[in-house]
Amino acid sequence: MSEIAPGAFLHRGFLDEAAQESLTREITDVITRAPLFVPRMPRTGKPFSVRMTNCGSLGWVSDARGYRYEPRHPETGEPWPAMPRRLLEAWKQLANYHSPPEACLVNFYGPKARMGLHQDRDEQDLEAPLVSLSLGASCRFRLGGARRADPTRSFVLASGDALVLSGPARLCFHGVDRILPSLTTALASPVFEGGARINLTLRRVT
Ligand code: FE
Repeated sequence: MSEIAPGAFLHRGFLDEAAQESLTREITDVITRAPLFVPRMPRTGKPFSVRMTNCGSLGWVSDARGYRYEPRHPETGEPWPAMPRRLLEAWKQLANYHSPPEACLVNFYGPKARMGLHQDRDEQDLEAPLVSLSLGASCRFRLGGARRADPTRSFVLASGDALVLSGPARLCFHGVDRILPSLTTALASPVFEGGARINLTLRRVT
């Protein structure tokens, strides 16, 4: 585990291969029950290049009405599937926080997807850390400071890595520059075909 900036902790290989495979199966099941949807930017309605879904009691959504948490899938109207136990345990090990996570945002990156620099600040509870887990293709991740103009650094996040943004890093700007081409993935799941990546972000909301 290394502290790459004050409050930003990177745990390389937090999930071993067996845990990655099990989690991939569990998330594939989440996606089956709560299909990936295309989020849209508030106001402009421009589609994100990532597709999303959620598990847990609340899920993050974005459309013309804005960014927010909702208890139900925007297209099916169903409650989000429960969070797999493995994720609750990862939070216990990594978050150092008294309450469990309420939302797990599942971001699906095809080989051309990216995510512009942003802060995660739609949560009422900004004391709780953000815990994120990577599966599938690697990406070049970018981490800045609490102000958009602050200098940034980039590093690779690979399958099984965990990143915790806590304390002074909780409101750091961050994004995904690009997905790195992978000819082979250790995870033999159709969900990663073509070099896709899944990021799971665990959050306390209320
Ligand atoms: Fe984010």
